[in-house]
Amino acid sequence: MKILILGGGASGMMAALTAAELSGAHVTLLERQARVGKKLLATGNGRCNLTNVRLIPDAPCLQSSYNGCDPAFLLPALTRFDVSRTRIFFRALGLLTVQEPSGRVYPLSDQANSVVDVLRFALDQAGVETVFGFDAVSVRKKARGYELCSAEGTARFGDKLIVAAGGCAGKTLGGTDAGCRLLAQLGHTCTELRPSLTPLRTDPAWIRGLKGVRADAFVRLRKGGRTLCASSGELQFTDYGVSGPVIFDLSRAASAGSELVIDLLRDYAESDVRAMLAQRVQRLPSLPAQELLSGMLHPRLGRMLVRGVIREERPLHMLTDAELDAVCAQIKSLTLPVTGALGFESAQVTAGGIRTSEFDPQTLESRLAPGVFACGEVLDVDGVCGGYNLQWAWSSGRLAGLVGTGRERL
Ligand SMILES: Cc1cc2nc3c(=O)[nH]c(=O)nc-3n(C[C@H](O)[C@H](O)[C@H](O)COP(=O)(O)OP(=O)(O)OC[C@H]3O[C@@H](n4cnc5c(N)ncnc54)[C@H](O)[C@@H]3O)c2cc1C
Repeated sequence: MKILILGGGASGMMAALTAAELSGAHVTLLERQARVGKKLLATGNGRCNLTNVRLIPDAPCLQSSYNGCDPAFLLPALTRFDVSRTRIFFRALGLLTVQEPSGRVYPLSDQANSVVDVLRFALDQAGVETVFGFDAVSVRKKARGYELCSAEGTARFGDKLIVAAGGCAGKTLGGTDAGCRLLAQLGHTCTELRPSLTPLRTDPAWIRGLKGVRADAFVRLRKGGRTLCASSGELQFTDYGVSGPVIFDLSRAASAGSELVIDLLRDYAESDVRAMLAQRVQRLPSLPAQELLSGMLHPRLGRMLVRGVIREERPLHMLTDAELDAVCAQIKSLTLPVTGALGFESAQVTAGGIRTSEFDPQTLESRLAPGVFACGEVLDVDGVCGGYNLQWAWSSGRLAGLVGTGRERL
């Protein structure tokens, strides 16, 4: 039997390795770029956050960790190849990993390269044929299987076909909607594709001066006076707005017209913050006003917030109660109107994809084109920040790769 895998990213490599090791079939991995795992190399800021131990395969956890489809669709793949099996799998390939307090798992080497390397070595060892520069543009059903044709006119046949072509996110790293277009040729339908886990453009212009400043914050996304969602964690100021894990998590629901309400001292109640300001005024009355928040926040951020409220330089004892209230409000609910999200170039994942209802969750086989399987981001599954997207790629790649194995040996 011949198995074709389209896409040499996270899920495709996992599917290829599984199929080659467990089915004994001839496995060919087709990749349009010049190497496998190009996007993987850029994950986790070059460190590759490959999974998260907080991911438990039960409905409530899946509901809060993934968007797009019904959690019931995710359950079989994420149960059969869960976080602990994934770590055992990588350990067997020779990858040592560490777990951070947030539950995020990284290679001990702190290098995404290590993850790609162990997968590459294992693919070679398992005898997977890897074809680079094969940019699939069409797929055809044949009497027995499927034929993929490249942009250059070469054709490859497989009795079974696994589509692991990813999504549009990370355009410069190979992100594309090609997988959706190919599956559409077989009758599949795609939901709207949007960038997710992406930085946001915001007003006002003065925050541009904070480029590079990081803060630990609780952030609410609001629209029309209603809180749409909230998250806490690291926030980074940039020259166009805000970025960082906490912003990525809110980006899916953000749009022009919404606003971010940022609590920069999330462990302190507003009354405590106000009391700290009063205490500072009392203890250091002749200190210049711009130093009001020194020691409480990043120095640039502190000065910028004070400047937003207190225009003229004065010593602390000359500040009015109303001005101190206003500084306190800036700290606890700094409000930045969202003007838009950055596009697929900067996004980490694609919201939307091929409709999961068109695939059997137990096997990831197409209900419309028997013998065709799909895994990873090409499907309408997108996770929150923290290793959830790669875990979906590993788990779904594993399940799809069981094609031809009898499926009992995972
Ligand atoms: C900058 C960045 C950082 C990220 N960091 C993390 C992180 O730390 N943790 C986490 O969990 N997730 C992270 N993600 C998300 C994660 O990388 C993806 O969800 C995951 O790689 C998806 O795996 P995949 O196999 O579906 O697709 P991909 O890894 O994108 O692989 C798809 C492959 O298919 C190939 N391909 C596409 N079309 C064709 C075609 N027509 N012919 C031939 N080949 C084709 C592509 O070239 C690509 O190599 C990050 C994403 C980005 C962009």
